[in-house]
Amino acid sequence: MKFNHSEAFCVMNYRCKKCNLEERLWNSRDGVTPFIIGCKCGGEMSHVNWGDDRRYIDFWPHSDMRVFVDMSKQKYRKIVAEKVDIYWNDKEFPMSKSFETEKIAIDTLCKEFKEGQPDIIIGKEWVRRYRGTSSNTKPISDACQMLEDDLIERGKKELAGLNNRYQIALDVIEEYENSKSPIHGCGVNSLKYFCRDRIK
Ligand SMILES: [Zn+2]
Repeated sequence: MKFNHSEAFCVMNYRCKKCNLEERLWNSRDGVTPFIIGCKCGGEMSHVNWGDDRRYIDFWPHSDMRVFVDMSKQKYRKIVAEKVDIYWNDKEFPMSKSFETEKIAIDTLCKEFKEGQPDIIIGKEWVRRYRGTSSNTKPISDACQMLEDDLIERGKKELAGLNNRYQIALDVIEEYENSKSPIHGCGVNSLKYFCRDRIK
């Protein structure tokens, strides 16, 4: 399959300059992604380890995983309206000096909207919006696939100790996969935290 963007459908690593947190985000479309995004701590995260970007086309993100999507016109307008509201009576550069009304300001700035510009939503919202369900059976196998890839990649580079910890995580996921009891509600989240706890 040919794509217009090298980052199409890739899971990518971002690292925060302020708190050092590493986070993986999935690009859900053949579209551009920002080099810099916001971190939960208020700092800025940048795309790192480009060589580790991996393409997952039929992917179901975890419920709290952040996902790149195309920005909708409505969302763009909402962001613009919030900015206009903040800067309308700004002490230094009041927008009220440049535009007759707030609505005119919003309409004017919305002309800069471009199709395909990136927005970020969480996995739960993505699954609801694009798969029309809140089922979380599929994400279990994707989580397993991602960990397995990590295991193979890191196993090549690093010591057996890390390998072993990932193996424990994999075993846990397999236990879930092979278990006959269905996984309810926040199954994937519980699984992730359980694994993280064991990886520590
Ligand atoms: Zn941070």
